[in-house]
Amino acid sequence: MENNYTHINQKLYYSTVLVVISLMLLGLFVDNPLLEHPGPGFFTHGALVCLFSMCLIIYPKYKSHFIRILIIVIGSSYFYSIFFLYPNTWSNFIFLCFIPAISILFFDSRLFHYTLLTNTFIIIGLLSYIAVVDSPHFYPYIREDLIGNIINFLGSQAILYFIFYISYGRLQKQKLYYEQIKQSERLKTTGQLAAAVAHEIRNPLTVVKGFLQIYEKENKYNEESNRHYSLMIDELNTAEQVISQFLSIAKPDKDTKPELVNVKTVLQSVTDLLNSYGLLRDNKIILRMDEDCYIAANTIEFKQLLINIIKNAIEASRVGDSVVITAESKKSLVEIKVIDQGQGMSKEEIDSLGTPFYSLKSKGTGLGMMICFNIATKYKGSISFSSEKGVGTTVTIRFPSTNVR
Ligand code: ADP
Ligand code: MG
Repeated sequence: MENNYTHINQKLYYSTVLVVISLMLLGLFVDNPLLEHPGPGFFTHGALVCLFSMCLIIYPKYKSHFIRILIIVIGSSYFYSIFFLYPNTWSNFIFLCFIPAISILFFDSRLFHYTLLTNTFIIIGLLSYIAVVDSPHFYPYIREDLIGNIINFLGSQAILYFIFYISYGRLQKQKLYYEQIKQSERLKTTGQLAAAVAHEIRNPLTVVKGFLQIYEKENKYNEESNRHYSLMIDELNTAEQVISQFLSIAKPDKDTKPELVNVKTVLQSVTDLLNSYGLLRDNKIILRMDEDCYIAANTIEFKQLLINIIKNAIEASRVGDSVVITAESKKSLVEIKVIDQGQGMSKEEIDSLGTPFYSLKSKGTGLGMMICFNIATKYKGSISFSSEKGVGTTVTIRFPSTNVR
């Protein structure tokens, strides 16, 4: 599509250049007063027409900064020379005003500003020269209403500036948009590729882990080797965990439709599930919730979100401390709080949450919070943190509530 676009653009460019060159040749040869006795003036005019035409023709092939500057310099010389060579043609003055427009075509902001400024200075110099010297009077149409001409000139520059500003801004936005589309396409492909690789790795891992578990149970080996086996199994477990968490992000389930979720039921089942996990280090999970409230989400994903956040709270807690979970309806929201008195986080640590693989745990995957944020965003919910180092953390999860009819 991009090729097609440049192709059409090139055709348009060359047709326009052809029209411009024809007009310049017409100006040179038709009804030209200098043609009666061709002198240096006529040849200068002719040479500039040739140079300017050549630059315009070769520009698409050599789109360099140098050629752009050359086009502007030769174009300006051409317009100024016809202004001086044909003083009776008052409309030549219009071309002088439009010199900065040449650089609009290149969408080069610096070049445009530079040309606009330089041309303004030259024209102010020129008008002063006409006002003060100009003898014999070649430019009566400028002299007679000098102030009016200056105002008109400044007005034309303001219009040019406005046109440039609008079209340049639009072009920049389009460029950015195009880059973003390209980047997201790239990310999508990489994500799919990574998911496929992760999936393929999981199967051999399961087989290796299975055999290691068998060898460990056989008890044929000495204590040292057994320790090695359990270490290997541990590491494989971590790898498996990373892969399944990664897959749940990279391959978001398209079939997960929002359903009516009873927050109380889900919280109770998650609490029961994680109580045994907490018991390992004597952490209790206390659930405080009175009323039933409902949200629209997928139950499995909502559970996944709660498990990740409550597990983090347990892992941050000291031996024997409890994790408190509260849930209540607030206006149109259901607000769930997971409160721990654990190690807490600094502001920088909170800001890093959700970054893939950000983890301060020796066996952490650093994917838990990213999954949580993805799920919350999917169902228009939010997760916020308030935490103090050494004091504890409160994670607040909010979802729009749904009424049961
Ligand atoms: P993981 O648990 O695998 O490390 P997460 O994305 O779940 O990955 O969490 C990232 C990091 O955020 C954790 O390693 C931990 O340092 C920090 N964190 C998350 N929740 C808490 C919490 N309740 N208290 C203290 N730190 C936390
Ligand atoms: Mg975690």
